[in-house]
Amino acid sequence: MPQTKILLDENEIPSHWYNVVADMPNPPAPPLGPDGKPVGPDALAAIFPEALIEQEVSAERWIPIPEPVREIYRLWRPAPLYRAHRLEEALGTPARIYYKYEGVSPAGSHKPNTAVAQAYYNREAGIKRLTTETGAGQWGSSLALAGQLFGLEVRVYMVRVSYEQKPFRRSMMHTWGAEVLASPSERTEAGRRILAGDPDSPGSLGIAISEAVEEAASRDDTNYALGSVLNHVLLHQTIIGQEAKRQFEKIGEYPDAIFAPCGGGSNFGGVAFPFLADKAAGREIRLVAVEPTSCPTLTKGHYAYDFGDAIGMTPLLLMYTLGHDFVPPGIHAGGLRYHGDSALVSQLHHEGLVEAVAVPQLATFEAGVRFARSEGILPAPESNHAICAVIEEALRCKESGESRVLFFNLSGHGHFDMAAYDSFFAGELEDFDYPEEAIEESLARLPKVG
Ligand SMILES: *Cc1c(COP(=O)(O)O)cnc(C)c1O
Repeated sequence: MPQTKILLDENEIPSHWYNVVADMPNPPAPPLGPDGKPVGPDALAAIFPEALIEQEVSAERWIPIPEPVREIYRLWRPAPLYRAHRLEEALGTPARIYYKYEGVSPAGSHKPNTAVAQAYYNREAGIKRLTTETGAGQWGSSLALAGQLFGLEVRVYMVRVSYEQKPFRRSMMHTWGAEVLASPSERTEAGRRILAGDPDSPGSLGIAISEAVEEAASRDDTNYALGSVLNHVLLHQTIIGQEAKRQFEKIGEYPDAIFAPCGGGSNFGGVAFPFLADKAAGREIRLVAVEPTSCPTLTKGHYAYDFGDAIGMTPLLLMYTLGHDFVPPGIHAGGLRYHGDSALVSQLHHEGLVEAVAVPQLATFEAGVRFARSEGILPAPESNHAICAVIEEALRCKESGESRVLFFNLSGHGHFDMAAYDSFFAGELEDFDYPEEAIEESLARLPKVG
């Protein structure tokens, strides 16, 4: 019987992060300032420490992981790689299905991989406080944990719809010592501006980012930390794909296709980029980002310069976007409700190296329940997107009789998302229509560049 869990020793935790920029066919497009000219790294110095800014613009292939960060990684890494024997059997597919399980971290997702690194570099730079935004609460809880481990105060602006839907994520952040505010809030100019226009605003990641950035920019002792999208965040997450490569080597397998849920692109980039190095060298492998049909950034967005936040405070990034002020329907996969996407993932998608598919909410929960009933683990609603795409692919393999190796990132567990599962079982979950009109309106307000 082949192994079910493929495990590594702690001394096999990678010593370096992998920077995909070194293997991209074209250099990344530069971020632009309000004047349409490329912004230098200095523009970021008000809210990020030097070391992270260097990583943001680096083209070095390998970047060493500081020892204090690796020490904390040892609390849950290396994460296991599983062979989904029972799911394969349930589907009757000849495909071999594997998943990397990032739910073993204390916060229950991949996000602490970067939270810990960011907290470390900020502490080294003498910073005392961090602000951030959170959607479903996974990022806020990850940064709360990391702040606690490195002695930093953390304030989290939490998207209001999630603040109300996920009270236990709030409790988790409190337990790790962070302060949590519902966004839009009255604390910032950005929040007050949104509330003046729409007092019942459910909030969005873009709005919460505006609030957190505004506060960090106005205080010397405070920096901002972002849970996805930026190059340095994807860099830190490459520990996932590197471990997975070693795990596949151990059993003499190699994936034909990799799937990951895609919100801002960090777990997708983290799992896929180390394999993209092989693809760049000529190896055949499909890299598939999976997003919700209600927030279809890569599949329906424009490839254009846009703001990273809702108000227009950040530099302009060339990315797939639905328009910075697009507020997606309140689906339960809060981590996938971002209007844009990582510039690196976007460029690689634009250049044809990365694929994207969109799946509707109900199908993702059907897939997640099917997974839980065969594999046991209860997945996060975000992860259900990847599972849904993998099951579809495995059923195609069943039809064609092909025995392909399918690999996905199980980015987190869903223990704090049971209300969403309850709604699903009660028949109360909906498939939102593709919000074409709202997206078109929002895209009409893309900033003019050049
Ligand atoms: C945040 C989150 C995602 C999506 O964010 P990315 O930056 O695209 O990785 C996916 N899965 C889980 C469990 C998350 O917490």
